[in-house]
Amino acid sequence: MIDKVVIANRGEIALRVQRACRTLGIKTVALHSEADRDAKYVRLADESVCIGPAAAAKSYLNIPAVISAAEVTDAVAIHPGYGFLSENADFAERVEQSGFIFIGPRPETIRLMGDKISAIRAMKEAGVPCVPGSDGPLDHDETRTLAIARDIGYPVLIKATGGGGGKGMRVVHSEGALLSSVALTRAEAKAAFNNDVVYMEKYLEKPRHVEFQVLADEHGHAIHLGERDCSLQRRHQKVIEECPAPGVSGEMRERMGAVCVEACRRIGYRGAGTFEFLYENGRFYFIEMNTRIQVEHPVTELVTGIDLVQQQILIASGEPLRYRQEDIVMRGHAMECRINAEDPTNFMPSPGRITQYHQPGGPGIRVDSHVYNNYVVPPHYDSMIGKVVAYGDNRGVAMARLRIALSEMVVDGIKTNIPLHHLLLNDALFQAGPVDIHYLEERLKA
Ligand code: ADP
Repeated sequence: MIDKVVIANRGEIALRVQRACRTLGIKTVALHSEADRDAKYVRLADESVCIGPAAAAKSYLNIPAVISAAEVTDAVAIHPGYGFLSENADFAERVEQSGFIFIGPRPETIRLMGDKISAIRAMKEAGVPCVPGSDGPLDHDETRTLAIARDIGYPVLIKATGGGGGKGMRVVHSEGALLSSVALTRAEAKAAFNNDVVYMEKYLEKPRHVEFQVLADEHGHAIHLGERDCSLQRRHQKVIEECPAPGVSGEMRERMGAVCVEACRRIGYRGAGTFEFLYENGRFYFIEMNTRIQVEHPVTELVTGIDLVQQQILIASGEPLRYRQEDIVMRGHAMECRINAEDPTNFMPSPGRITQYHQPGGPGIRVDSHVYNNYVVPPHYDSMIGKVVAYGDNRGVAMARLRIALSEMVVDGIKTNIPLHHLLLNDALFQAGPVDIHYLEERLKA
């Protein structure tokens, strides 16, 4: 049994993992950079280890430092959270080779799904519907590239197989721009991901982003926990997420959930994971799989009543899943706002001291955040300072509670995107139902 976990992350997810460990009676080791030394969640952990200077490359991404911290603290397992090393197959491999448990899928699964081209190939073989595309990498034969695009039909999307975080993608509307766009995306991908392999997909014009949550154990059991809608995005980054996805029927959920569960079996998946789809005109198209816990996991937790982070730890301990598919009941509706330390008008990061912080509460409100009065948001990392999540019997109730919660919330001293959330939660079209992935940016332009 796992009795001590190293948390190789920071901020709200480090605190979230710590809470899951504590409820399971597991000791925690908080790893932190010099910039996060004074954070309260670091003090709350049973032990803490400074793994390097502020720059993530020298601390949170420093594999030898993370592993030696596990060694000196006699930990059993390492939880990577999201971002940083969470989808780094080499890291997972090094963790296991060093004799620790990696709380996540097998390294070879991370590698398979981390490369978008191999992921799409594996998913097609498993019977998962994918976006029409080049079926593999684009080579340097220009005539062939032009022919593929003509075949798919414009607009097309050039995507880097190693891309992530919404980077390494370019839309092409006409043949005249195709070859230069491929070359540009290649060069950018080489610089950003040290991998210049790109592929082509049909660019869907009005899709929604709908993703399925899964859990799979080491013994061949897998279940799905329904879907989330994450269509409100800016620069391909999610802003508001909800569970369930409006308009997805029980029959559709069962069908697509079963497709994802079958795919888990085929690839020998282990742990928590998310199958991301674009959803357009009643059809699902797989785009990628995230082999880790996601930022938006709380909305699924509120609707299913299952603690996903605890499940990750139990699965990593080798336990069989405690739930069968028929045990998963989705009840009510949940919606999450990501609170970022940023200017709500120009989206520039706004780090600094939070001079006054007041967290909302009340029925159905959950706040996952590591910040407090006088906390200093460091400038070195992602700008998210927490998540406000609301639950209600239905979507309308969840949205109303979220609106009230945000109006109670006080974050002084820095700028946040709370005004943007107010705008969206009061938006008539979003209130009425689902919107597509371009809606937020179109709304901002207007
Ligand atoms: P990343 O790994 O960078 O998150 P994804 O493949 O998950 O990349 O895509 C991120 C977002 O980009 C999606 O949520 C969607 O908004 C948009 N996107 C991706 N593929 C397509 C496509 N074929 N057509 C239209 N939009 C797309």
